[in-house]
Amino acid sequence: MSALQPARGTHDLIGEEQRRFHRVADTARRVAATYGFDEWITPIFEDTRVFSRTLGETSDVVTKEMYSFDDRGGESITLRPEGTAGVCRALVSNGLTQSLPQKVFYAGPMFRYERPQKGRYRQFHQIGTELIGPAEPLADAEVISCGWDILKALGVSDDTVLELNTLGDKESRDAYRTALVGYFTDHKAALSPDSLNRLERNPMRILDSKEDADRRIVAGAPTIAPYLTDSASAFYAKLQDHLTRFRVPFVENPRIVRGLDYYGHTAFEFVTSKLGSQGTVMAGGRYDGLVAEMGGPMTPAVGWAAGIERLSMLMETAPPAPTPVAVIPIGDAAEATAIDILQALRANGIRAEMSYRGNLKRRMERANKAGARAAVILGDDDIANGVAQIKDLTNGTQDAVPFAHIPSRLK
Ligand code: ATP
Ligand code: MG
Repeated sequence: MSALQPARGTHDLIGEEQRRFHRVADTARRVAATYGFDEWITPIFEDTRVFSRTLGETSDVVTKEMYSFDDRGGESITLRPEGTAGVCRALVSNGLTQSLPQKVFYAGPMFRYERPQKGRYRQFHQIGTELIGPAEPLADAEVISCGWDILKALGVSDDTVLELNTLGDKESRDAYRTALVGYFTDHKAALSPDSLNRLERNPMRILDSKEDADRRIVAGAPTIAPYLTDSASAFYAKLQDHLTRFRVPFVENPRIVRGLDYYGHTAFEFVTSKLGSQGTVMAGGRYDGLVAEMGGPMTPAVGWAAGIERLSMLMETAPPAPTPVAVIPIGDAAEATAIDILQALRANGIRAEMSYRGNLKRRMERANKAGARAAVILGDDDIANGVAQIKDLTNGTQDAVPFAHIPSRLK
């Protein structure tokens, strides 16, 4: 029988990869907590409308990437492609729209039907934060600063640059949209079929296209700056002031629009040149209209999401493998006492393991292979004397230690 393979675009996290993964998620959760973000755990699948209504009909995610299916009861279900829509749905479902601000952290799997490549998978994982309630640019700055602090704590901030843009308010965007439609209509002949479709429905989306043909035309497209209203400009200027105050370095990039329809004002990406074309590690912006789309009141919000896999790849050094203590009985009679010591070590929070069979030599070999830092060796004579031989496997020294002192010696 042929061995079964993982589904395309999925991967198993084992050993070092698993440790990198958890370092990213744990570090992010810890840093976000210092900013007051609490974790929400929302379902991995939702009513399809949670995404189709809110991500925008022209977004790549909705048009090509969702894992949707009818369940046995005939309901259309979608495996979540991103975290923000579910958090906003949960805000409304749980009656929290009047308990603002809410500062939400999440971490978990996301699903997108994409062409798998390095840094791009069909099941991938994100960490994210959402700050729901405040309309002030201070909130945007704080959310971005939290992201930056996470990148610093992971040791990857030197390899990433914050690229910042504004999408203005609705009035700015309407004026800009008209300018873009004019420009892209003049270059219609060279646009990709996807972008021709976007031209009708959401021309700003063309700026986000990854097609080479589109990118050449995008390079000459007008930017939003001349179309910003005074208040949108003031918002953007204030955000930049705050970022400076928070000591978050940034560059402006007027091409950043974000893939989803619900963004306004702030749009940003933390990008790296170290991951080829999958260079965006963390991305987000302000999405004041989303909660209302979900059936709640008009509620300002800002947040970001980051790919755990991409951050894991960026991390220079992996967290070290754990170093257990090996408990080694010599002979069958010693095993019972060895179990007592094994459990005493574990009760003291020490990672301790004992092989299931084998003589001293085999057991020592296995302990070394497992990277054990010490061996607790128990012969019949030792047991009679109430001691075990503790061998330090990093330097080879050995001495006899009374049972009661073993855990504290190995702490
Ligand atoms: P991209 O432009 O790379 O397709 P995106 O704009 O679709 O990214 P977002 O929806 O903003 O990505 O998701 C936020 C982050 O999640 C990305 O910056 C990236 O780190 C990660 N991410 C998105 N899609 C994938 C995927 N298929 N595999 C791995 N990570 C992903
Ligand atoms: Mg994408």
